Amino acid sequence: MQKDSFVKFKTLLKSVKNIVIVTHYSPDGDAMGSSLGLYHYLTQLNKSVKVVVPNAYPSFLHWLPANNKVLVFDKDETKVTKALNTADCIFTLDFNSFKRLEKLGDILQHTKAPKVLIDHHQQPDNYAKLYFHDVTACSTAELVFDFIVGLGGKKLINKKIAACLYTGLMTDTGSFRYPSVTAKTHLVIAELLKTGIAPNDIHSAVYDTYSADRLKLVGYALSEKMTVLQNLPVAYFAITHTELSKFNHQKGDTEGLVNYPFGIKGIKVCAFFNEAPEGYIKISFRSKGKIDVNTFARKHFNGGGHINAAGGKSTLSLVQTVKKFESLVEELF
Ligand code: 5GP
Ligand code: MN
Repeated sequence: MQKDSFVKFKTLLKSVKNIVIVTHYSPDGDAMGSSLGLYHYLTQLNKSVKVVVPNAYPSFLHWLPANNKVLVFDKDETKVTKALNTADCIFTLDFNSFKRLEKLGDILQHTKAPKVLIDHHQQPDNYAKLYFHDVTACSTAELVFDFIVGLGGKKLINKKIAACLYTGLMTDTGSFRYPSVTAKTHLVIAELLKTGIAPNDIHSAVYDTYSADRLKLVGYALSEKMTVLQNLPVAYFAITHTELSKFNHQKGDTEGLVNYPFGIKGIKVCAFFNEAPEGYIKISFRSKGKIDVNTFARKHFNGGGHINAAGGKSTLSLVQTVKKFESLVEELF
C-alpha cells in the first residue's frame, strides 16, 4: 500500500488545468470504467480532461458515458502525443509500469507532466509524483471511488460516474465472486446504486451483447482445445490466429474463457494462450488461493498482474510457449 495524503492530491489538483487520464494496453472493463469514472469527476471540477488509451477496446464497453471522447493512440497518434505533451498532470490508471502501454509507454516516459498513479496491481514502478496504490482493492474503480470521496467529492458522484465505476468493479471481480471481494466492495456498490443506476442493465450491456460466433468459439475451445494435465491441477487452452479467424474473432471475444476450467473439480491453475495479431503469444494466467501467478508471469513470461490473475507475452511459437509453460508450471505448487 502506498497512498499519499489527500492534502497533496488537493494541492496538485488546484494547480492544474489540463489533465490526461491514461490506461493500459487492451483496456478492460476496469481500465475504462475507472478512467471514465474519474473523467466525469474531474470535468465537474472544471478541468479540461482527456482520456487516452493505447489501442481499441471491446465493443461491450462502448456504451460507457463519454466513450466517444476517448482518444485511441493506435488511430490518432498525433492527437494523443499532443495531449500528453501539453498536459499539466497525467493520471495513470489500472497499470503500474510504462511497459503495459507498449509504444505509448515510450512517449509517456518522456513527458514532463507529473504523474498520479491509481492502481491495484502488484509491484508498482517508481515513476509517479503521487501514489494511490493498494493491492487489496478489488479494482481500480474501487480506488477511484475512495479517491473521489477522500477529496470531498462524494456529492458529485452521479449516475455517469456510478455506471463507469460499477462496470470496473463488476468486471474485475468476475461479477463479485473473486477473493478480492470484501464487505467494503459491497459498501461501495451500495453507494453507487443510490445514484439510481440499474445493475441489471449494466450486466446485460457488458455480458449479453456477444455475437453468435463468440459463443461458438467458446464451444469449440471447450470441446476441442482444452488440455487438462494428468499430474497437476492445471488446465489450459492454446488457440491459433487461424482458429480465432474462423470464428470471426473480435476484440474481447476470448475474455473470461481462461476461467472456464475452474468449473472442473480440483483445478487450481488455468492458462490461456493465443496468437495475438501483434505477432506474439498473449497469455492469461489464473489461480486459486496462495498460488502466485503474478510472480510466475513476471519471472518467465515478461508479464505480471495480481496473485490470482496475471498475464504475459511470449515471442516463441504457440507450441513452444505451451511447452515452456508445461515444463515450468510445477514451480507454482
Ligand atoms: P488478462 O489475463 O485478463 O489479460 O489480465 C489479467 C491481469 O494481468 C490484469 O490485471 C492485467 O493487468 C495483468 N496483465 C495482463 N497481461 C499483462 C502483461 O503483459 N504484463 C503485465 N505486467 N500484466 C499483465
Ligand atoms: Mn483492474
